[in-house]
Amino acid sequence: MRGWDIVDTMLGVVFKGEGKFSLEQRPVPKCTRADDVLIEVESASICGTDVQILKVPPGHPANEDVILGHEYTGKVIEVGEAVTSVEVGDRVVIDPNITCGTCRYCKIGQPNMCENMTTLGIFIDGGFAKYNVAPQKALHKIPSTLPSEIAVFAEPLSCVVNGIQKIRPAAGESAIVLGAGPIGLYYTALLKASGLKVIVSEISEFRSKFARKMGADVIVNPQEESLEKRVMEVTEIGADIVVDAVGILLPDALTLVRRGGRILAFGMNKAVEQHLHQYDITRKEVTIFGTFIAKFTFPATIKILSSNILPLRELITHDIPLSDFKVGMDAMRKGEAVEVVLRP
Ligand SMILES: [Zn+2]
Ligand SMILES: [Zn+2]
Repeated sequence: MRGWDIVDTMLGVVFKGEGKFSLEQRPVPKCTRADDVLIEVESASICGTDVQILKVPPGHPANEDVILGHEYTGKVIEVGEAVTSVEVGDRVVIDPNITCGTCRYCKIGQPNMCENMTTLGIFIDGGFAKYNVAPQKALHKIPSTLPSEIAVFAEPLSCVVNGIQKIRPAAGESAIVLGAGPIGLYYTALLKASGLKVIVSEISEFRSKFARKMGADVIVNPQEESLEKRVMEVTEIGADIVVDAVGILLPDALTLVRRGGRILAFGMNKAVEQHLHQYDITRKEVTIFGTFIAKFTFPATIKILSSNILPLRELITHDIPLSDFKVGMDAMRKGEAVEVVLRP
């Protein structure tokens, strides 16, 4: 059923290959499969992955001629005949990673390792447009009171929550977050809200300011002072938890973690190979967790966002119309933005 005015075209940010994008008029998508849902996008945000996609050479693959945007939220305006979990008028966030449900990993409860995964906004059309079609299984309802510019944090935060569930932070522990990009800042806020003492390591003055806003107790610029020395002063024995939000800092994490502590390897950098002193892992009895995208963590994430316990609004540096995408992307590229909210 149709609960909206019929328009034919919409503005979309389209990936054109080799570092190029264009703002194009595209046909408004239609529900073609029985489980399709048509969404009117309220807000979207630019992710570091979008910056990687638009790099030359690309740091992340994507399909040409696809509408970008995998972090978005909106309202259901049309549903396919088999859709039962949402109805017209519901507000939703989208889990952009669509899994098959039938491969060997989906069948053992690890859909984030799906062998046939595709992603809205990367390999098929996403949310940098006024409308988007997604299958009902990708949608999670949100309360009508949750502002869209906060709901848009759901996707990246759901990945962060997946990591948090692995390291199981306990109140009174200490944690070091290496790197205060958006992901490092979400970890800082969530670890702080969990009752930990949080040390953030960041070389950018701009990002350090946001780490303070997220509640970091100690912020260290490792180019100006010894991080190891400072961590030992603050924790005496090293940190209970070290989060690498950069993707190349596992050797440092092994130095900073206390004996018996946990390391979370979140950041990704395929190009960099590390020299690791494996002896330290055994001798210090360190547990190292990898964590990749979200894994059944959208429901918890929506509760966290709805509880308003994280000061995420402070991270919105840009709240601009979708037509100003280039302004937001340039700011992201220059490291002068944290969260860029786009309004179609
Ligand atoms: Zn992302
Ligand atoms: Zn699968």
